[in-house]
Amino acid sequence: MFNDELAEVFSELADMEEIEGQKWESIAYRRVAMSIAGLGEDIRDISRRNELRKIDGVGAAIEKKIRQYIEEGRITAYDNLKKKYPVDFKQLRKIQGLGAKKIASLYVNLGITNVSDLRVAIESHKISKLPGFGEKTEMNLSKSLEMSLSAGPTRIPLGEAYPDIMELKDFLVDSGLFDRVTVAGSTRRMKETIGDVDILAIAKDKSKAAEVLVESDRVSGTVVRGESKITVNLKIGITCDLRLIEEGSFGAALQYFTGSKEHNIHLRNIAIASGMKLNEYGLFSEERQVAGRTEEEIYSGLGMEYIEPELRENTGEIEAALNHALPDIVGYEQIRGDTHTHTVDSDGSNTVEEMMLRARQNGLEYIVFTNHSKSLRVANGLDGAGFRELNRRIDDASSRLDFPALKGVELEILKDGSLDLGEAVLSEMDFVLASLHQFVTGDSDENTGRVVKAIQSGLINGIAHPTGRLIGKREPYKLDMDRIIAECSAAGVCLEINGDPFRSDLPADIVRRAINTGVKFTLGSDAHNVADLSNLRFATAIARRGWLGEEQVINTLTLENFRKALSR
Ligand SMILES: [Zn+2]
Ligand SMILES: [Zn+2]
Repeated sequence: MFNDELAEVFSELADMEEIEGQKWESIAYRRVAMSIAGLGEDIRDISRRNELRKIDGVGAAIEKKIRQYIEEGRITAYDNLKKKYPVDFKQLRKIQGLGAKKIASLYVNLGITNVSDLRVAIESHKISKLPGFGEKTEMNLSKSLEMSLSAGPTRIPLGEAYPDIMELKDFLVDSGLFDRVTVAGSTRRMKETIGDVDILAIAKDKSKAAEVLVESDRVSGTVVRGESKITVNLKIGITCDLRLIEEGSFGAALQYFTGSKEHNIHLRNIAIASGMKLNEYGLFSEERQVAGRTEEEIYSGLGMEYIEPELRENTGEIEAALNHALPDIVGYEQIRGDTHTHTVDSDGSNTVEEMMLRARQNGLEYIVFTNHSKSLRVANGLDGAGFRELNRRIDDASSRLDFPALKGVELEILKDGSLDLGEAVLSEMDFVLASLHQFVTGDSDENTGRVVKAIQSGLINGIAHPTGRLIGKREPYKLDMDRIIAECSAAGVCLEINGDPFRSDLPADIVRRAINTGVKFTLGSDAHNVADLSNLRFATAIARRGWLGEEQVINTLTLENFRKALSR
């Protein structure tokens, strides 16, 4: 989205001003980058209404810069600094352990401008000799770099790409040139990361249809242009194929291009075993097409139930479909509340009221506020008195806006496994999530022991982002997840599925492992601004990919029953 581009420009400005020693400018730019990234609408619309100054952190000077970017696609101050630091900040910042200062030092001393320069420098051990780096830092950077590369240079978290993909789809629909437009591929399966985008469409007029894709402002250029397929580069850094399909085989094509590959191979073999042939044009018996118009026809032609896209991984779903024993998985519209959200009161960028209004707009029936507790100083965590004051404001806002809001906390699990707030203040909370954020370098026994102690405290409702992984950045903590699942089940403590695209935690395979243990789940967006409340969709997708039913997810409950389920 345009907002994200502009936010990135300001955050690079912040990096460069920080290097220049301009502390205040840097802070101001970082703040405005955060505000822009969290805006619920296109900043160009806000500018048209002449309301840029209403955005948090925007004064006269920054307003001018935003206007210049909207009008000319550039900001002079940025261009000037960029000449001095021709560095790919966005890419380098993704590597754990690299902040603006370190990036600057790498550039000034070694001329490193991007990830491949960094790799060469690490391999020739030049980094460890730099002042302020040392051998340990070099080793850590090497590990982080390996992680970010093994995630694949072109695989990105679904949630990063999703708004752009939906915008692109709407753009095609609005052009009026198509009878049908559907996104297929790993996006339709709601995989946690995607490598490219597949769009299938039925065109009214093929010659005009392919052209229109290039006109979208999400597209940066054409790769190849064929008769019924066009491939373009998207600004988000991956490619997109638009395929023009005939109506009579649209279902077959949708099934084929949705994948996964393993799922399709298995289906194809089943077709062959029953003397048929399955491909992107249809299901054929002899040379006659017996199915192709819809996906449902294809699956039923193969003698099985329809399989939801999120399940198509060849991990038992085909056998279940043949036995008519597929689980009834939780639906996106069945989630009634968000159980993990932050506000300006800790490290979020919107107020309690703003979050409530957006939650209602998104169709939710209630929201739980879970700001950080005091030991997480980097996130401006609150102490008992802070929470009491905040809780009064939550109650007040809830009755003023007539929208149910629950008082919660994302509570630090301390080094010895004890909890960051006392029993008295916790007993005033509706919902207590406990998290491992700090001291996480321990071994499995140590880490698991801390989590188990929190589970057994009788004071918490759930464990947030249980594995601690950050996609492309950090491996899961060393933990015995099966033991944690069992302890949660025994103590009636929930496991969270966190919808932050960089977390996607729990991963779907662990959810799947837990479904028959009796443990319950909560789905949370972990939103730090109103826009990210939509991340609840990605948490739901993981639940579906993990075969979870509605009854296993407690925020599918009505407010009344949700409250009952929270007894500690
Ligand atoms: Zn957290
Ligand atoms: Zn959080």
